Amino acid sequence: MSDYFVGFKWEAIEGFFSEITGVYKDGDWLVRCPCANGEYNENSRSVMSSTDIKQQVYVDTENIKYFKKVKEQEAIERGIREENEDLRGYLDTLNHHLTKGKVRVVMMKKVRFMGLVNTRRDIVENCLKDGCTVMLDCDGEMFLGKYIDGNIGIIIHQSEITKTALKYAEYLEENNDLFKYVFPVCERCKNRIPANMVIYKSKSYCDDCYSEAKKNGEL
Ligand SMILES: [Zn+2]
Repeated sequence: MSDYFVGFKWEAIEGFFSEITGVYKDGDWLVRCPCANGEYNENSRSVMSSTDIKQQVYVDTENIKYFKKVKEQEAIERGIREENEDLRGYLDTLNHHLTKGKVRVVMMKKVRFMGLVNTRRDIVENCLKDGCTVMLDCDGEMFLGKYIDGNIGIIIHQSEITKTALKYAEYLEENNDLFKYVFPVCERCKNRIPANMVIYKSKSYCDDCYSEAKKNGEL
């Protein structure tokens, strides 16, 4: 059998892909697919026939379509909040009424992000709820970032959503319990990881534990 289809990928869960990784015998394929939470583990490998794969691609594609629809519906429902222009007390922290007015306009403006049109306020709030935190790049500019596979991923930069929006994010993180950034827990010492962390096989480790565990052959 030819290995022509090795490397063929399809979206299995939003943002996570299944992939044909090799040729098995009797016309079957080795497939790597993520678990329901997006992680890959020892159960992520399976052997599938071409018919199975076709069926799986169909099911996954339909599921993704469905979840995108649900998300859109949720975005529409969130729109109810858009009318009241509530910025969770942020405007009270600004001293000039002209500044307040400007900030309100900037934050309530609808822009497109990840294919959805939403107010800057709701984009920021959704990113924070989704595990992002305000970080600084090497030029000292702000962005909302997230740890993805051990690297800091820039989800949205101030140049895309304005500095005002990022300042609002900062305000929420500092003042609103709903949006406080919760550091991940180290898998090994169970402490919250304040800064440097290593993500290995989708698990978070503090720097020390990671090197220690590597040295002891635990990982
Ligand atoms: Zn640790």
